[in-house]
Amino acid sequence: MHEECKQKGYLKRTGKKASLSNTRMYFPGTVTDRVVRDWLSNDPYSNPGAMPGMVEEIMERERQVILDEGDTMKWKDTADRLSVLEDCKKAVTRIEKDLEQYVLPYDYDVDFKFQAPLMLPHPDGGMDTVLLIGFMDIIVRRTMPDGSFQWGVYDVKHTKDESYWRKTGAQIGFYDLSCFVMFGQNITEAALLQPLCKETYKPIPLNRDSRAQLNQRILGMATDLWMDDRTPRVDNKLCTYCEVKHACSKFEPVIDKNGKKRISF
Ligand code: SF4
Repeated sequence: MHEECKQKGYLKRTGKKASLSNTRMYFPGTVTDRVVRDWLSNDPYSNPGAMPGMVEEIMERERQVILDEGDTMKWKDTADRLSVLEDCKKAVTRIEKDLEQYVLPYDYDVDFKFQAPLMLPHPDGGMDTVLLIGFMDIIVRRTMPDGSFQWGVYDVKHTKDESYWRKTGAQIGFYDLSCFVMFGQNITEAALLQPLCKETYKPIPLNRDSRAQLNQRILGMATDLWMDDRTPRVDNKLCTYCEVKHACSKFEPVIDKNGKKRISF
């Protein structure tokens, strides 16, 4: 987000959002995520096939969470709720076989929140710490025959877009770097679990070049934060549907010499 627009990154970090945002677009993904996490957290071995039966209750719970936070969750039409319910049931039914293969046989944690301190060169000279903050849907630790560990990270995606994985390189790279900082080892295996796609298990490649590029991007962002650079994006390509546009300094009204408010479009 910071790379899209420094102003947007700043406003989101400081808690600005549209006063009433409709969360319908993300709702099915949230429900599928929560069902998978709840199932994995509560003795999945004793409850095979239980996830579809959990969907309706979790849908209502998550909808209430959204309303309690002051957001809206409007169905598109009268058939929409049933369509989301069926899609989520299909997703959690299909994902179980991949969870059985890649997660259940190993030590794992779900909704793994982390804060990994990384030392970087500060623009004033010397080194300073930045915190890599995030959470992973599922992290797996495999114990090898020689007693060493390998780490796997899996992200649940409720997408039907077969090429969605192409957009996830930075997210997975961030997890990879965070693992290295926390455990002294890069991720051995990273993948999307995308049960509504043909390829339900989609490995995301990580290599030396992608790791070097990510390090550079994180250093660039850290430098901007240290220098308090929150410059709005020069062009307006991403501004039309920007959820923090109402708070953006580029669109702040200015009072002209006649006392009228003017906004730059
Ligand atoms: S409205 Fe445009 S310039 Fe302002 S924060 Fe959003 S993307 Fe950035």
